[in-house]
Parts: sequence; C-alpha cells; structure tokens
Amino acid sequence: MNNFHDLHSLFKQHQTFAISTHVNPDGDAIGSELALYTYLYKLGKTVKIYNTDPVPKKYQFLPNWEKIENAQAAKDCSPEVLIILDASSLDRIGNYLKKCLIPINAVVNIDHHITAEAFGDYNIIVPTASSTAEIIFKFFKSGQILIDPNTALCLYAGLMFDTGCFRFSNTTPETLRIAADLIELGDFAPDEVYTEVYEQLRLGKIHLLGQTLRTLNLSGDGSIAWILVTQSMLKDTETTLDDVEGFVNQIQAIAGVEVAICACELPDGNTKISLRSEGKVDVAALAAEFKGGGHERASGCRINHPPTSAIKMLLESANQRIKNIR
Ligand code: 5GP
Ligand code: MN
Repeated sequence: MNNFHDLHSLFKQHQTFAISTHVNPDGDAIGSELALYTYLYKLGKTVKIYNTDPVPKKYQFLPNWEKIENAQAAKDCSPEVLIILDASSLDRIGNYLKKCLIPINAVVNIDHHITAEAFGDYNIIVPTASSTAEIIFKFFKSGQILIDPNTALCLYAGLMFDTGCFRFSNTTPETLRIAADLIELGDFAPDEVYTEVYEQLRLGKIHLLGQTLRTLNLSGDGSIAWILVTQSMLKDTETTLDDVEGFVNQIQAIAGVEVAICACELPDGNTKISLRSEGKVDVAALAAEFKGGGHERASGCRINHPPTSAIKMLLESANQRIKNIR
C-alpha cells in the first residue's frame, strides 16, 4: 500500500495522465475523476478521462463533465500514468479500456471498496473512507493543495452520493466535517446539488418503479426481499439501467428485511444484481461468491444467468447467511 507522499511525487515526475473508473459510473466515480482532472490540469499536465459508459444526465451539471470521453477515444492513448478510481478491480473499467489503455510508467489505483484488489503499481485503498472523493479530498489536504469551487462541488457530489445523502453507515464525523469544508470552499447550495441528482427524474422512472414494486417478493420469515426489472419493463417505460438506481434501497427499508436484492435483466439476458444489507449480513462477501464485490452493506455482481435463476442462486446463499447470524 502506498501513501499520499508517493502519489504527490509520482504526479510531479510525469506529464501525461489518463483517468478512468468503473462501468455505470456514479456520483463518486465521476466527481472523483473531475476533481483529479482539474488538479492535474492546473498543474499543467496533459490529462484525459475515458469511461466505458456515458455520464448520466443527472451528473451533467458537474463542471467539466464534457471532458469525459468514451472508450473508443482511448484507442491511441498511451499516458505515462493511468489513474483508476473507485473501481474495485481492473475488469470493472470495461474490456476495451482494460485492453487498450496501457500506461508507459504506472497504474494508480485509488479506492474505498472493502473488496478492492491492489492491481495498481500504486495502491491507495481506504475501506474506512465513505467514498473515493473523501480519499481525494484528504490527498489534496495532505499536499496543501487549494480546492477551488468547482472541485469542491465535484467532491461534495461524490460524498453525497456514496453516503446516500449522509445517511448510510459509512457517514462518519470526519465525512461530515469534510462535507462542511467543501460547502465552505464551494459556491453551491447543498439543496441544489440534491435537486440536480435526485429530483430531475423522468416520469418513466416512476412508472418503472411502480412496475418493479409489483414484482416484490419476501422470504417466508420476511428477512429477504427481492425485486425484478426486465428488459421489457425498461422498454415499456422508455427507461435504462441507470433509472433502476435506488430501487433496492426502497425495499431494504421494509421492517424486518435484512437483505434486499434487485435483479435487473441485461440486454444479453444475463443479470445485474444489487444487494443491500441492514447490517448483520455481509453482502460484499455474498457478492464475492458471484465474482462481484462492494461494501459490507451495499454490493453488486453480474450473474451469467437470467434473472429468475440468478435470484434463486442468490437466495440459497443469502438464506444460509441469515441462518448463520441467528
Ligand atoms: P449498486 O448496487 O449501486 O450498483 O452497487 C453497490 C456497490 O457494489 C457499489 O459500491 C459498486 O461499486 C459495487 N458493485 C456493484 N456491482 C458490482 C460488480 O459487478 N462487481 C463489483 N466488484 N462491485 C460491484
Ligand atoms: Mn465509491
């Protein structure tokens, strides 16, 4: 494991950088990328950002979001340093980027997932951090780097997203102190950031939520809840996979539910799984059984089976884990 000092030296010594993050990037992934982008750019470096998936509309208020390029644009890019943020594993940046984005000198891996692999030449993995944005904030502080208002907004969006608006168990006193600092350093109102991210929903998302909640199932003892999203439901409501975000939290809120599962059918017929835990079951370990990962209370994986069989497989393991805690 490396420290911030190593990273400051590495950044000083090199001139060309590329940044990437996981597929289906969220507020933490994008906010962290843009914060680091601005920092390196201001140092006079050549910096590129390449993501497999586009920036969701709700993050298109973040300054410089349009600097984020698609994977194909990385075709002839060979930066001296490649920085991977919030990804858990190198596979999660997507096949094409993994294959073609090869740095000349070093891979830097900055992450806060408990299942994060140390795939970099430089690894800064802090599972106690609420978010990758929190780690980047501390990196800036450690180098007495001035955080400008745009960067403050990007980091705040990262913290806000990964803590579920400062309500999840990863919200520490330090997280809240950092958030307060960012509000002071920034030029934004927290309620406006909330509105941008959570209250610009397309009507289709609400219809999709309605259809999805009709699929709700509970285990006999009420400790496991699951929902299903099919491609035909997405088509019917003119929505995409991004719109499914947050659904699993709705069913985790049911009294007595220890594990919540959302199974979403992918275009290829396989399944994207989101898992949430009330705290007693380690869903990072559950996801890891299926080659996924994440945090103890929020994790995910892809299962190469249709949703109904994927759920069956998960229920077996989830039931066993619930028995073990009783
Ligand atoms: P979500 O359910 O919101 O998509 O993801 C919850 C958490 O699990 C996030 O921290 C995310 O990084 C992680 N996660 C989701 N899907 C996967 C996956 O397929 N592989 C890994 N390693 N982590 C995942
Ligand atoms: Mn994160």
